[in-house]
Amino acid sequence: MVVINDYLCKNCGYCVKFCPKNVLEIGTQRNKRGHFYPVAKEPDACISCAVCAAMCPEGAIELPPKGDVDNG
Ligand code: SF4
Ligand code: SF4
Repeated sequence: MVVINDYLCKNCGYCVKFCPKNVLEIGTQRNKRGHFYPVAKEPDACISCAVCAAMCPEGAIELPPKGDVDNG
């Protein structure tokens, strides 16, 4: 699952728009810079494709290293 460093976000919406699984949406909280930032509305749908991280111009999204995710 993705980690969103919300303080870096400037609410461009790219991560929400380009996620192939519609995992993300812009939330209702503002960060310290005054921008609404994304949250995972469907975290279980995430396939760790890293498209969101690649699209983010602020480097605000990280994915855990492969093998670090415990799927049970
Ligand atoms: S890693 Fe892929 S599936 Fe998961 S939130 Fe990002 S774009 Fe969506
Ligand atoms: S792509 Fe990055 S800066 Fe843009 S809304 Fe998503 S987290 Fe924020």
